[in-house]
Amino acid sequence: MTDNIRVLHAKYILPIIPVDTVFENHCVVIKNGVIQEIIESSEAREKHPKAEHQSFTESILMPGLVNTHCHSAMTLLRGYADDYLLSDWLQKHIWPAEAKWVDYDFVYQGTTIAIAEMLKSGTTCFSDMYFFPNAAAKAALDTGMRAVLSFPVMDFSNQWAKSSEMHLEKGLMVYEDFKKHELLDFSLGPHAPYSVSDQTIFAVIEAAEKNDLEIQIHLHESEKEIIDSIAEYGVRPIKRLEDLGLLGPKLQTVHMTQIDQDDLAAIVRTGTKVIHCPSSNTKLASGVCPVQDFVDQGVTVGLGTDGAASNNMLDLFAELRLASLLAKIKSSDPRALSAHQALRMVTIEGAKTLGLEKSIGSLEKGKKADLIAVDLNKIENNPVYHPESSLVYTSSGTAVTDSWVNGEPLLSEGKLRALDETALLAIMREWSAKIKA
Ligand SMILES: [Zn+2]
Repeated sequence: MTDNIRVLHAKYILPIIPVDTVFENHCVVIKNGVIQEIIESSEAREKHPKAEHQSFTESILMPGLVNTHCHSAMTLLRGYADDYLLSDWLQKHIWPAEAKWVDYDFVYQGTTIAIAEMLKSGTTCFSDMYFFPNAAAKAALDTGMRAVLSFPVMDFSNQWAKSSEMHLEKGLMVYEDFKKHELLDFSLGPHAPYSVSDQTIFAVIEAAEKNDLEIQIHLHESEKEIIDSIAEYGVRPIKRLEDLGLLGPKLQTVHMTQIDQDDLAAIVRTGTKVIHCPSSNTKLASGVCPVQDFVDQGVTVGLGTDGAASNNMLDLFAELRLASLLAKIKSSDPRALSAHQALRMVTIEGAKTLGLEKSIGSLEKGKKADLIAVDLNKIENNPVYHPESSLVYTSSGTAVTDSWVNGEPLLSEGKLRALDETALLAIMREWSAKIKA
């Protein structure tokens, strides 16, 4: 077999590791889907004359973005219910719509649409928590996208499973069926403290230990969640979960907007990881995650979009900008969450949040060639004094022209290689016509 060598040249390369480094007029050499080295462009042309060379003369190459929390299939419910209280949004709108419409096809098609949107805006790996994870797994494999499927576990009956035991059993079956695929990883997704009993949490911990899987849970999303927990259990949710033995380095906690000093100490003490979803939290007025406090204490923090029903976009560049701005106002300090820190959060720290930092999240020798090209040759980005500042404060996902997963081009010059956008739009129109009726 001859080696497949691809050399990507760019005006700027942001490897993320080492810190605060931007190479100019260099290239990334990729062999069989794995990063070999980053060297000067002139050297690479001499060294690899027969390789496929591609130049991005006004762009920046960087690691593909890692979306650490999404409910992908909810692209089909984008804009369905906006401007409601979180409890009304869930109980009166989203849960009834899901009960009526969510099935295998809804999830396969909704997830495929989400993947198209994510690839177009620079995401090359996403973590997903939704019903029918077998459909999401198939969508990821069919499109060549990297995914971590956090199969849901809850005490409530729904279209996919009728009890917590059934959620666990079905989720673990999906894990067994798909675990051999290199693009896919799995974790357990106990939905939230208010939707799982202590017994269910014990069962989740046991299954995670037995299968060496991480766990993702929505936690401290709103003030109401804290008040209800104190009324029912006498303690805040974080304390309850710590007492049950759930906190730890393999737990990913999503939202974390209501955090007092004891909560912060528990997260730091146990090495628990945090996932920040700034757009969803602001849109639902849930609160602001104290990101800088977590980062200062060495907590791993990743960024997520949450689902398209509460964001309503899956563009991590929008999250990057908002995360940085919110951190500054929350800390009353414009130095909070610098451009570089924010970019780490959406790349290497995001990978660490999902337990994938050894294979993705930075452009380093031996890592999978998951990367993107962002076009900086636009009025709104220029002049480019500091490329990282341009990425965080003036770029949006529409500036992404190319995305590669495992060295395979999935988006080229703004066009999806394996997906037909016109067909995807038609599918969305069909679903919305049915759901509206
Ligand atoms: Zn969520």
